[in-house]
Amino acid sequence: MSTLKVMAPLTGWCAPLDEVPDQVFAGRMLGDGLAIDPTSGVVIAPCAGEIITLPASAHAVSIRTAQGIDVLIHIGIDTVELRGRGFEPCVKPGAMVRAGDELIRFDLDVVARGAKSLMTPIVIAPMDGVTISQRRAQGLVAAGEILFEIGPIPQHAMSQPLAAAAAAESAASGTLTIALRHGLHARPAAMLANRAKTFAAQVSLNAHGRSANARSVVAMMALGVRHGDGLTIQAIGPDAPQAVAAVVAALDEAMTMDSAAAPAAPAAGAVPSAAQAGTGVLNGIVAVGGFEVGRATRIERRKIDVVEHSANSAHEVAELERALTNVRLRLQRVAATGGATRREIIEAHLEFLSDPSLQEAAHGLIAAGKGAGFAWRSAVRQSISALEALGDARMRERADDLLDVEAHVLLALAGEARPMIMPLPEQAVLLADDLLPSEITALDRQRLAAICLGAGGTTSHVAILAAAMEVPMLVGIGAGLREIADGSIVIVDADAGRLHIKPSAQDIEQARGTVESRRLARIAQRAAARTECRALDGTRVEVFANLGNIADAAAAALNGAEGCGLLRTEFLFIDRETAPGEDEQLAAYQGIANALGDVPVILRLMDVGGDKPLRYLALPHEENPALGMRGVRTALAHPDLLRAQLRAALRVAPFGKVRLLIPMVTDAAEIRAVRGMVDELTRELSLPGRVELGAMIETPAAALTAARICGEVEFLSIGSNDLTQYTLAMDRGHAELARRTDALHPAVLNLIASTADAGTAAGKLVAVCGGVAADSQAVPILLGLGVRELSVVPAAIPALKQQIRGLRILECRELAIRCLGAASAGEVRALVEKTIANVGEPT
Ligand code: PEP
Ligand code: MG
Repeated sequence: MSTLKVMAPLTGWCAPLDEVPDQVFAGRMLGDGLAIDPTSGVVIAPCAGEIITLPASAHAVSIRTAQGIDVLIHIGIDTVELRGRGFEPCVKPGAMVRAGDELIRFDLDVVARGAKSLMTPIVIAPMDGVTISQRRAQGLVAAGEILFEIGPIPQHAMSQPLAAAAAAESAASGTLTIALRHGLHARPAAMLANRAKTFAAQVSLNAHGRSANARSVVAMMALGVRHGDGLTIQAIGPDAPQAVAAVVAALDEAMTMDSAAAPAAPAAGAVPSAAQAGTGVLNGIVAVGGFEVGRATRIERRKIDVVEHSANSAHEVAELERALTNVRLRLQRVAATGGATRREIIEAHLEFLSDPSLQEAAHGLIAAGKGAGFAWRSAVRQSISALEALGDARMRERADDLLDVEAHVLLALAGEARPMIMPLPEQAVLLADDLLPSEITALDRQRLAAICLGAGGTTSHVAILAAAMEVPMLVGIGAGLREIADGSIVIVDADAGRLHIKPSAQDIEQARGTVESRRLARIAQRAAARTECRALDGTRVEVFANLGNIADAAAAALNGAEGCGLLRTEFLFIDRETAPGEDEQLAAYQGIANALGDVPVILRLMDVGGDKPLRYLALPHEENPALGMRGVRTALAHPDLLRAQLRAALRVAPFGKVRLLIPMVTDAAEIRAVRGMVDELTRELSLPGRVELGAMIETPAAALTAARICGEVEFLSIGSNDLTQYTLAMDRGHAELARRTDALHPAVLNLIASTADAGTAAGKLVAVCGGVAADSQAVPILLGLGVRELSVVPAAIPALKQQIRGLRILECRELAIRCLGAASAGEVRALVEKTIANVGEPT
């Protein structure tokens, strides 16, 4: 027996694993160890050994020592998402390294900006009887200093072939095919390791001609076992047959769970996933609400075969390039025809197509004699495994996007295009274990009633697309979904999270009645949305649309928008290598203005910088992006950029249709600076009049000085999303604070009230264009406070107009005044709940 000293691989602050903001590491699922919050970007080998994993993203590395101990270093948390950005590997998998050799270099700034945390766990894969001692105390540690010791190390190296074990001991083995969607990744491997540890026998897993200790999660992951791969389990020891049986059972269990996987973080108010077969009802998680009756229609994913070997690397590289280009062109075409949601998702897929680490991995495999399809699939699956290893539901949902891109390219290699429309019967209720984004967009919406998935998540791209298509969707239903006979009639109550799989004839008739009355109500809402909107007492309230592009403009016109209350022009500026020129901007703005018809367009000047960086602008690194150079501050710091945007906006015909809105205002001087430029350009362009200028009220400073700001502008528009984040000092994107970042907090309402009062006193229109405008509980309060224009996403317009038509402003005013004195957002919402029936009652 001996011990092994493990050195600190980085300089930084040493801390226990409990401080790592990730359940997998803090819960020691991958083994025991310590963490370092690094102050330098050089990772050295903590001991001598062989590099057994170093993914293309180079965010993690594991070393196997001569004694068979696996040491994993994972640089930061969620760093796989950086896809190699900021990381530079200094060694390759399979290399033998000495303690102190450089393994990875990384850019602290880049990684810190892109990662959830820099905390770097250094863990030892669990090994029977081996413990950590002499742990370094919390505090500063320099790379190369001893971090901890491991021991006692058994004489027989755990990774040695089990065949070398004593022949006298009993041996057993078993084989199976891995049906885990994403192969043998961290979670099933952790489950196996726990099971294997309860036996005296030494258990190994064998695949691809390699062997891994079944007690080591890292070693099992490094086997790279993928969906459909064969796996042999071997055990040697007194209880070998029981050990093999237990590991096979654990794998079966993992595969059942995997096929019925529910998302790790169900949405608020979601129904827990539990199949209740026998009762005729299956429970699911609500991804998109709604109610439908239809015919169960199962779709199975097509299997695409690939050829593993090829002797002609040059041909395979050319084939891969051709396929990538074809898919890129096709996706770009699809993106141009869909709405904003679809475009954003396709853009993410386009990123994957050009991902350097994926391409590098695929080219490496082709150079090693593999076919293009095999190489591409292997490269994609490698990245998926890295995502899976993080044990995060969101990451798993990203894996589906990668699978989608994989399928596109494999089909293109086979010379096929994905069929744009999959055949569906009328009123199809689509059943599947899971769906890929391109699969949902290929469905015929006219025939699709609802979607029910065995797995899936509420925040996946598929869920987002279903919401954009307004298709009710349940996810996480589990294996019970497979019991439904294809073609049978089912009722999807996607408001209550229930799927009725054996409805009686009477149930079906009743449900059809519900579907029909809801349909008629929607039609009536849409039809009524085209007329102007007045409250019960005749007060005029304008309902405008928030837009990001031309597809949104078409949806806005369809839903009865009376104008565009917020055109987020950032879409033209971000995610590109050079700034859009004046003519390009003019074409985009004019197209949107034309699509909307004869209504005003409030064009927000570029709200960039901060959390919306531009690659072509040397913007400073921000400690607190939300509090740095963003909005009008960035625009004024880059006058050329602002001038080009102003010229494009002012040239939109007819003159006067476009009004300008200034984002992130904190004082009147900012408005005067923009006004100065606008006046200069008005003269330069010989325009027939003065363009209207508005200020976004998004900072407490602007709300509190709204009276002064009114003197500089023609209208005010309250950006409640930012106003809430700055008032409550809660990041609007913070997951844990999401429930508390509520614009109905009385502090935010008081700022909205003082803004509205200032606007009313000055005779200036006060609008709200933040998310709160579409919150039905907020609407009576906002109208009561004096807001007379609401700007919301196009789909929300019909219901919003219907609500306003049932409100009396005087009662709204009384409610609003009581809400201003409430103690919390919860109290405000309770007050609205109590009053809303009276507020909305017709006379
Ligand atoms: C807001 O802050 O409320 C707003 C409308 O602007 P954005 O959400 O684009 O920051
Ligand atoms: Mg804002």
